[in-house]
Amino acid sequence: MSKDLQYYERRQAAVIRKRIRSRLDALLLTQAADIRYLCGFTGSSAVLVFARQGPAFFTDGRYTQQAGEEVAAIQTIVSEGSPFLRALQWIKESKVRTLGLDFAHCTVSSLHQVKQQVGKKVELRDCSGMVEGLRLIKDAEEIARIRLAIKLGSALFPTALKHIRSGIRESQVAAEIEYEARRRGAEGMSFETIVAGGARSALPHGRASRERLPQRGFVVLDFGVILTGYCSDMSRTVHLGKPDARARTMYEAVLRAQLAAIKRVRPGVAVSAVDEAARSVLNKAGFGQFFTHSTGHGVGLEIHEAPRIAGKQRQKLQPGMVITVEPGIYIPGEGGVRIEDMVLVTERGCEVLTPTTKRLITI
Ligand code: ZN
Ligand code: ZN
Repeated sequence: MSKDLQYYERRQAAVIRKRIRSRLDALLLTQAADIRYLCGFTGSSAVLVFARQGPAFFTDGRYTQQAGEEVAAIQTIVSEGSPFLRALQWIKESKVRTLGLDFAHCTVSSLHQVKQQVGKKVELRDCSGMVEGLRLIKDAEEIARIRLAIKLGSALFPTALKHIRSGIRESQVAAEIEYEARRRGAEGMSFETIVAGGARSALPHGRASRERLPQRGFVVLDFGVILTGYCSDMSRTVHLGKPDARARTMYEAVLRAQLAAIKRVRPGVAVSAVDEAARSVLNKAGFGQFFTHSTGHGVGLEIHEAPRIAGKQRQKLQPGMVITVEPGIYIPGEGGVRIEDMVLVTERGCEVLTPTTKRLITI
């Protein structure tokens, strides 16, 4: 805890600076990932308020012990009823005039409650993305945790290979991956495991179904684990049976696109340039129209966070960002290929964090 404490204190200090710079008397946070990031709490019922008199953490009676063990450097208030209402009451008593809220994650009813509880005189301001903006750049502690999540995640690939064969259900392969993840200590999967065989490999989000893997064709695997709160995310595509020339061409095009995009990853480069690098390789190879999603996304406490690695996004890469690079091609009725690594933006360029081989594996 003592080692972690400095990270939480540093992150809290950054939020306090943002609150002051935005001239807010208080900032109310409800997103679980933001709260975990700022004070270490891993439960689900919590509200965090940064006010002039200091930060305060609100939870309910089910989490008294957990909050005592986990919440770092913040006074804790255990409410009898809803922690959200208790926090609003506290804000009201604190004579707040400007209150920042994460509008992007506010429901209509919660906004209604805020207005009702704190009164009409309080000015509400949209602070969407304020904490996510901090979470964009991972500190040393986060990078260490992400590395461990990736290590566990990539260790599941050999398990998947052991079970992939024609005739097995996609869901059975997913079950083996997920069982092994839990056995190795994962807190959970970071999203629903994708195992998509044959023509189903052309579905970019082909969740493992009851379908059986075919005699021949691609199998797209996309999975990740959560370990100490942080997500991993990787995709590999293998081939059942000997790949024909067309399949090889598809695979090589995606691999070249992925490598070209990784090559562009360095501080100061616009995320759109990374997307463009992948897209231009696939365009030249004649598969451009089949690359139907963006090239990647940030990963951290959440599986999809900023930045989005897509065209038209002007955001520039900075050291400490952790992103995925995952171009793919999906030909309806035929099949698809995706290759995805997690990449850390370093001072001078980048480091590919996913250690798994990208040569085409035939089963
Ligand atoms: Zn993925
Ligand atoms: Zn991804």
